[in-house]
Amino acid sequence: MKISKRAGVVPASATMAVNSRARQLKAEGVDVIAFAAGEPDFDTPDYIKDAAIKALKAGKTKYTATPGIAELRAAIAAKLRSDNGLEYTAEQIIANIGAKHSVYESMQAVLDVGDEVILPAPYWVTYPEAIKLAGGIPKVVQTDRANNYKITPEQLRQAINDETTMLLINSPNNPGGFVYTPEELAALAEVLEGTDVIVLSDEIYEKLIYGETRFVSFASLSNDAYSRTLTVNGFSKTFAMTGWRLGYTAGPVDVIKAMGRLQSHMTSNPVTFVQYAAIAALGEPADEAVEKMRREFEKRGRCMAERLNGIEGVVCCQPMGAFYCFPDVSGHYGRTINGAKINGSMDFAKALLEQADVAVVPGEPFGCDKNIRLSFACSLEQIAKGLERMENWLKQ
Ligand code: PMP
Repeated sequence: MKISKRAGVVPASATMAVNSRARQLKAEGVDVIAFAAGEPDFDTPDYIKDAAIKALKAGKTKYTATPGIAELRAAIAAKLRSDNGLEYTAEQIIANIGAKHSVYESMQAVLDVGDEVILPAPYWVTYPEAIKLAGGIPKVVQTDRANNYKITPEQLRQAINDETTMLLINSPNNPGGFVYTPEELAALAEVLEGTDVIVLSDEIYEKLIYGETRFVSFASLSNDAYSRTLTVNGFSKTFAMTGWRLGYTAGPVDVIKAMGRLQSHMTSNPVTFVQYAAIAALGEPADEAVEKMRREFEKRGRCMAERLNGIEGVVCCQPMGAFYCFPDVSGHYGRTINGAKINGSMDFAKALLEQADVAVVPGEPFGCDKNIRLSFACSLEQIAKGLERMENWLKQ
């Protein structure tokens, strides 16, 4: 059958592709160590599951208002106020089917054909595709390891032109594992003053933050930042709810209403009983459940980065947030390992999986071909075993 030009040019998500190859090898009996997953290895806390079961039993099985039930939007508004110092009314909030949907729908609501979006690399694989599907043009800005892969105010200033419509900020970052400090964000916000640039701030990893790092929402920096920002967040990472599919967007009423109109023709409301579970997720004992996971991730991230830096030709920044290490492995490019020529991150990841049974995601689809991404959403034993395999493989 005919495939549209639009669909024809969209590649499958690279992270999903590695995951499915790793799953296939596992099904064939291969002892694969997978560092590819972009999801917590913890189960959803029981108090959230119980709320979903209760909602189902109470017959919460019908359509709701497209942007979500009023109670959920009120609970999200309360969360944004208490956690992030942000004042949003329920009208300024729309619940979406995962933060991926929030990003996609935001782009559809604000971008026109030819609009440029400043996209600092490394970036999450979905952003360029979501931009292009909305007719926009990704303007990739390469960042430096020396600056922990963060865009600088000067780089931002140079990237802005008359077509610039949006800046994408994702902190804590997937795949980079870095977090912008409040001062760094304020300096970026200052560059935008006097422009019409919209900021899409993807804050989905907000609660997974380590060491002395402090999280700040871009919209909370100033009135100017507030009025230009679409804040995206969700339940997948914070509450180990990847399969439940619930995210949300907060911003100016006219944009949120436009998103609601689009959503009313695309998906209608997010799953009804999941909305009730999400209200429970945001209530007690949210902090306790999240803190337990956060502490565990912190330990694993430190251990993984230390171990990676011990491998010759591998350089890794300390992860400050999310659950990814993003080491530069380009010291090994140009080599041939067991007959496999390693000329970039795709070759590296493919050979590592086929020859040493370790699954990682190549950096190329994240805009950084020197790097690979390893998720530390797995046990310390798996980290030790997988990195030993990688080290031995590289020693050949
Ligand atoms: N933003 C970022 C940066 C992500 O890494 C992800 C998940 N990989 C999402 C958004 C989407 O999350 P979800 O759709 O599960 O809410």
